[in-house]
Amino acid sequence: MKPVVTRFPPSPTGFLHIGGARTALFNWLYARKTGGKFILRIEDTDEDRSTKESVDAILESLEWLGIDWDEGPYFQTQRKEIHDRYIEKLVKDGHAYYCACTPEEVNDMREQARTRGLKPMYNGRCRKRGLSNAPGTVVRLKTPGSGATVVQDIVKGDTAFQNAEIDDFIIRRSDGSAMYNLAVVVDDLTMGVNVIIRGDDHLINTPKQILIYQALGADLPVFGHVPMVLGPDKARLSKRHGAMSVSEYRDMGYLPDAVINYLVRLGWSHGDQEFFTRKELIEKFDLNHLGRSAGMFDIGRMTALNAKHIQAKPAAELVSPLLPHLKTLGIEAADDLFTRQVVETLQPRSRTLKDMAAAARFYYVDAPEMDEKAVAKFLTPEVCDMLNQAADAIDAVSEYTQPALEEVFKKIMADFNLGFGKIAQPLRVAVTGTTVSPGIFEMLLVLGKDRTVQRIRRAARLA
Ligand code: GLU
Repeated sequence: MKPVVTRFPPSPTGFLHIGGARTALFNWLYARKTGGKFILRIEDTDEDRSTKESVDAILESLEWLGIDWDEGPYFQTQRKEIHDRYIEKLVKDGHAYYCACTPEEVNDMREQARTRGLKPMYNGRCRKRGLSNAPGTVVRLKTPGSGATVVQDIVKGDTAFQNAEIDDFIIRRSDGSAMYNLAVVVDDLTMGVNVIIRGDDHLINTPKQILIYQALGADLPVFGHVPMVLGPDKARLSKRHGAMSVSEYRDMGYLPDAVINYLVRLGWSHGDQEFFTRKELIEKFDLNHLGRSAGMFDIGRMTALNAKHIQAKPAAELVSPLLPHLKTLGIEAADDLFTRQVVETLQPRSRTLKDMAAAARFYYVDAPEMDEKAVAKFLTPEVCDMLNQAADAIDAVSEYTQPALEEVFKKIMADFNLGFGKIAQPLRVAVTGTTVSPGIFEMLLVLGKDRTVQRIRRAARLA
């Protein structure tokens, strides 16, 4: 068995979208699982629509997702000589020919076919003319004319295309540039690609590509055409369903591991398992369980999965991805022990890193913003003495530890004859400005003694 070689060939006409990322992932996972190779190729032959910004955005998103490539990025526009060589070979071997028909003539042929009730197509007029290369000529592939070309697909099974419906299609334009299907086949062939997983919007190209492989006497790669990603309303995923680009999900605070987990599960299954680490995906991914029915993108499910990934990660790994989200809120935090502890307290209750940053705010500001409703409800005159006593008692502990804080709470509960909640909630508001926060003890410990005491005293003045 030859080693597996897969590829991802995005056209750089925009950002990396969710559907493209999923295709890249399937190919990448299969290469990683089998110890094969994953190649990145930029299909930039549409020079009007391809941009450097798109190339950069695609590479950045792949890097962020942790999809690394073993070769490339190759650029299709830089491979013209290779494409030309293969076109010449096809002509020389009698599998392709120069055609001098003008676009008007070809249109007439199509029209004639249509009036005869046939599929409009080129009639093969230049096949036997033995023309040579001259300005204005195109190159066409000689296609079989009868029989069928069968796409054997690991996802969809066999699909037969009638050769009578495939005309002698152009493989080189009159300006000398290779047509898309020729470039794809030559690139895949010369790069040794032997497994191609792509969206089923490309299935229509595959019979033509197979005919080119056959004309070149080359082995076919394994094809797998995966269904498109749909929105919750079962329409093809589009802007109106929400964010489409991978980078938007990064900015919304999703973890790359959660995004890849969710996207892979949209078109592949391993029993009922929903949560996968990156390592598990690589171990368990296979081509046999790619789904035939389209996956529906549901942001709620991805968010729930993101929360699970946030919980499952060691806090230290979340610090650096959290920093840009803090920065967006104007908080300059460092990759240090303090932020790691902050993260630890927030991990169990954050759905995204953006949520986490917002919830972390009180740890970093000098004085937290006080939520008016929370103040009115919990910082009432009756708690003023309790708060002052708590501040004094906390200030007086020799070691600022959880057992010491528990002792302080116990004493105050007894002295004021209050339940735990009646003490914890005003203290929580005092320290964070809101009623929602991490567990009271862990939070007070991370905040530190001085700031805790200072905030409780300030709240007592408000009460
Ligand atoms: N460049 C094509 C695209 O971005 C991919 C072609 C292929 O996978 O064969 O849709």
